[in-house]
Amino acid sequence: MPRELQIQVAPEVAAQQPLLVNHIAKLMQVKPEEIRHVAIIKRSIDARQKAIKINLKVAVYWNEDYIETKAQLPDYKDVSNKQEVIIIGAGPAGLFAALQLIELGLKPIVLERGKDVQERRRDLKAINRDHIVGEDSNYCYGEGGAGTYSDGKLYTRSKKRGDVDRILELFVGFGASEEILVEAHPHIGTNKLPKIIKSMREKIIEFGGKVLFDTRVVDILVKNSEVEGVVTQNGDTINASKIILATGHSARDIFELLDRKKIFIEAKPFALGVRAEHPQALIDSIQYSCDYNTGRGEFLPPAPYSIVKQVNGRGMYSFCMCPGGVIAPCATSPGEVVTNGWSPSKRDQETANSGIVVELKLEDFKPFAKHGALAGMEFQKAIEQKAWHLAGETQRVPAQRMVDFTQSKVSADIPKTSYVPGTTSVELGQVFPGFITQVLRQGFVDFGKSMRGYLTNEAILHAPESRTSSPVRIPRDNFTYEHLQIKGLYPCGEGAGYAGGIISAAIDGEKCAIKCAESLA
Ligand code: FAD
Repeated sequence: MPRELQIQVAPEVAAQQPLLVNHIAKLMQVKPEEIRHVAIIKRSIDARQKAIKINLKVAVYWNEDYIETKAQLPDYKDVSNKQEVIIIGAGPAGLFAALQLIELGLKPIVLERGKDVQERRRDLKAINRDHIVGEDSNYCYGEGGAGTYSDGKLYTRSKKRGDVDRILELFVGFGASEEILVEAHPHIGTNKLPKIIKSMREKIIEFGGKVLFDTRVVDILVKNSEVEGVVTQNGDTINASKIILATGHSARDIFELLDRKKIFIEAKPFALGVRAEHPQALIDSIQYSCDYNTGRGEFLPPAPYSIVKQVNGRGMYSFCMCPGGVIAPCATSPGEVVTNGWSPSKRDQETANSGIVVELKLEDFKPFAKHGALAGMEFQKAIEQKAWHLAGETQRVPAQRMVDFTQSKVSADIPKTSYVPGTTSVELGQVFPGFITQVLRQGFVDFGKSMRGYLTNEAILHAPESRTSSPVRIPRDNFTYEHLQIKGLYPCGEGAGYAGGIISAAIDGEKCAIKCAESLA
């Protein structure tokens, strides 16, 4: 049996097997040659003191052979002739639901409005270069959903370790590095995700499921409070008695469809703010207490940060922080500007970005009350459209230096940032309702007190960061996961309000598939 140890070592020791083996040999009072292998089980960074340490949980193998284990995919069986279940949306929720259905002997028919990962790249270029936003193919829509061109951070607040581990193992089975099973804060990277997503699709098709791209669902057919099928934008009808609705938090047309059909939905609070970008070297110097100019050295990763404050009775917090990353134009319709962030697997870009958002409450949507359950969505849309207008009615984004923002001063200039379509200097107070601006202004001052150096004019704010979670909930039964009124309809993932992020969306996809199979059993 290997022996498990919890140790704390210097970064250079953690990064190099021979040094690690020597360190452990000393601890265990054995010769280094007696240790066959040291496998890292968990890794995290302790940067609380000046001399940064790496916490490792390791398994030490010596008198027996070390057998490398790779995460295995489940034993899928062909489902071509089995009962069909429609899944709307090929994001993490939809794809993991499809794979789970196959495991359970059902045939998934995945309908996705966007294109496959390769084709999708062209449309992302058009957004960045030509300011053209495709309404079916963009950073949020297309194969893999919003998760494909994301950072691929795979952490979640879910406490159910077993559920999380299963999703991580499936990612490894589809080609992600085994490192994600070990890291305290695993991430995959935008450059690697498309290949992993593609192999999931290939597996679904190999075992008899269907994945149809360029297939936007425009109607859900319901008779006697039970689903019967869907209609696509070409007028085709596809019938099924079970539909998993996993269309994500940006599918406003789906929320509008449900509202029009009087299928019960409700407004949901979310959070909204800006995306802040600092030089990565500055964040490293704050987090690792290292010199801004000489840097963090070769053995530490680009530093992340996470910060939460209460300002005027509201939470203001960092969201989806991307070390060594890029700010992306994430609008899903022409006439709006939306930011989010991603990073490559090496996180080797020179800037660090993070959403800095303010918690919203249902009463904030009062000016949009006439929209009923869509009030939060309309509130969100109005801010995105205002940003578009203020920055010049292209995909350029309103931007301001951080200290200037706290002093309500238009920045004299905005240096080049990682946001490719470009920036326009705007006093960001114009983008938001006053109560959000007030919280952000005070919050940045408070952040600067907790993280010395954070509040600086070297940091550039881009507005808005508005798609943090769904502005609508599609309520479902806690036990059956079916919609409260409509039998056979399974609201799923982030768009329905049951997930936030890749891992929790994937877990929810699997759960909806299981509930769907149980009801057919
Ligand atoms: P989505 O991923 O939104 O998928 C929904 C799918 O449904 C889309 O593909 C869409 O095209 C399709 N669809 C919508 N309407 C229709 C229709 N009418 N007919 C057919 N198909 C339809 N999360 C993390 O955990 N870590 C990160 O690092 C991270 N970084 C991100 C970076 C960016 C740039 C973005 C945009 C998001 C990021 N996220 C991240 C969030 C994460 O991507 C989402 O939480 C997750 O993808 C939600 O999964 P989902 O399957 O519920 O919905």
